[in-house]
Amino acid sequence: MLEPALYIVATPIGNLADITRRATEVLEAADIVAAEDTRHTGQLLGSLGISAKLLAYHEHSPEAAAQRLVEAIGAGQAVALVSDAGTPTISDPGYRLVRSVQDAGHAVVPIPGACAAIAALSGSGLPSDRFNFAGFLPSRRAARRQRIATIAGADATQILYEAPHRLREALEDLVEGFGADREAVLARELTKRFETLRRDTLSGLLRWVEEDDNQSRGELVLLLAPAPERPAALPDETLLALLEDLADLVPGRKAAKLLARHSQYSSRELYDVLLSRRDRATSGKEVP
Ligand code: SAM
Repeated sequence: MLEPALYIVATPIGNLADITRRATEVLEAADIVAAEDTRHTGQLLGSLGISAKLLAYHEHSPEAAAQRLVEAIGAGQAVALVSDAGTPTISDPGYRLVRSVQDAGHAVVPIPGACAAIAALSGSGLPSDRFNFAGFLPSRRAARRQRIATIAGADATQILYEAPHRLREALEDLVEGFGADREAVLARELTKRFETLRRDTLSGLLRWVEEDDNQSRGELVLLLAPAPERPAALPDETLLALLEDLADLVPGRKAAKLLARHSQYSSRELYDVLLSRRDRATSGKEVP
C-alpha cells in the first residue's frame, strides 16, 4: 500500500538494469501510472513483470487531465508519473502537474534514479561543484546564438541536451560563442552499447564529429567547461593586429568569427574589442 501522493518515478535512460528497487515497488503498488507515452511505458512495465493502470499524461495534455490526477490523489489514490526515459520533469513533462498537486495540498514524492544530465556530468571530468542545466538550445540559429551568448561567460559547467541532427550546427555555434579552445565533453548513448564520453576542446569535438558520422548518432549530452578565469585583460597586441588586418579584408563580425576559431576568445568578445578600438580611433581623429 502506498500513501496517496504523486510519485515522480525515474526510469532507465537505456539500460534496464538501472531501474531502482524503490521505483519498481512504487510502479507495482501505484493505483495509476501516468505516462508520457503509454505504449512505451507499457513495454517497460511488461519487461519488469508489472501490470498497471496506465493513463496518458504528456506535454499537450489539457489542464483537465492534471485535475483528474489531482482528484484521484484527493480520493486516496497513489499516482506514479513516468516519462519515456530518465527523470520526469527534467526536460520532460510534469512540473505543472507537480504544482497542481502541491497547490491542492497533496504530497509529492520524488523517486530518484537515472538522469542523462547528471550521468553525463558525473563521467565528464569537468568541474561539478557548480553547474547549470541549460536544456535544449533553440533550434533556430539566431535564437540559439543568443542563448549561447547568455551562458558562455558563466563560472559553472554548462549541460546541454541536443538532438543528433543538430549536433554539428550546435558545435559550430558553440565554437563561436565559447571560443574554439573551451574544453567540452560529448556524452553519447549513456548506459547503452555504444556509450561514448569524449573530452576535448570545442574545435576538437567539432572536427571529431565532422570526421565520423557515427559520433553524432543516438542520444547526446554536451557539457562545456566553466569560463576560464582570466584577467579582464584584452587579447594581446599580436592578436589585435591580426584582428584589425582581417577586418580590413572582411566585415568586422566575420573577422571576429574567423579569429575566434583559433583563439581562446569568443567572437563576441573579439567583435566588442574591435568596435571599441574603432571608436577610439575615430574619436581620436576628431580631436584637433
Ligand atoms: N528526463 C530525461 C532525463 O532525465 O535525462 C531527459 C528527457 S529529454 C526529452 C531527452 C534528451 O535527454 C535526449 O535528447 C538526450 O539529449 C538526453 N538523453 C536521454 N537519454 C540519453 C542517453 N542514454 N545518453 C545521452 N543522452 C541522453
